[in-house]
Amino acid sequence: MQLVKIPLTLDPIKAAKMHSNYQGGIESAQLPRLLEASAGFCSDIQVQFSCDTDEQGTVIINGHAQGEVTLTCQRCMHEYKQNLSVEFCYSPLTAKSQEDDIPDIYDPVDMDENGHIAIAELIEDEFIVSIPFFPMHDVEDCSVEQDFTLGEIDDSVEERPNPFAVLQKLKK
Ligand SMILES: [Zn+2]
Repeated sequence: MQLVKIPLTLDPIKAAKMHSNYQGGIESAQLPRLLEASAGFCSDIQVQFSCDTDEQGTVIINGHAQGEVTLTCQRCMHEYKQNLSVEFCYSPLTAKSQEDDIPDIYDPVDMDENGHIAIAELIEDEFIVSIPFFPMHDVEDCSVEQDFTLGEIDDSVEERPNPFAVLQKLKK
């Protein structure tokens, strides 16, 4: 399927006046920092968002995005694919709207000297933040868990596989 690219930057004030909706993608080539944060692969990202003003006249960019990256499982140290999805609701900081005036439900974002926001970069940031701090396979997909619990579903701390046991086994 042909990827309809969303603009990398946009004028949020103009877009909000026009009640613009965007649906498309960001190519993985435009996401070098997300690629860096992954284990070596990130997919194109599917994005959907709308630009509008709320009842107070605050400009908002509201939407969601999803994509896929490879991560290294911290339990078995194998790579796996992780779906990531993010939601965002931005409000551009204008000369008039100070950060304090923007309701907490919105994320204030800076505009550049041309009145544009770097929407693709902002969404890339969302994805980087959404990567688990301690990425792991689902239990049923993880080779370590299968080797050491033998089908036992017990989550008590004592029963968890000891990571050093893995090393012991490798030494033998
Ligand atoms: Zn694993």
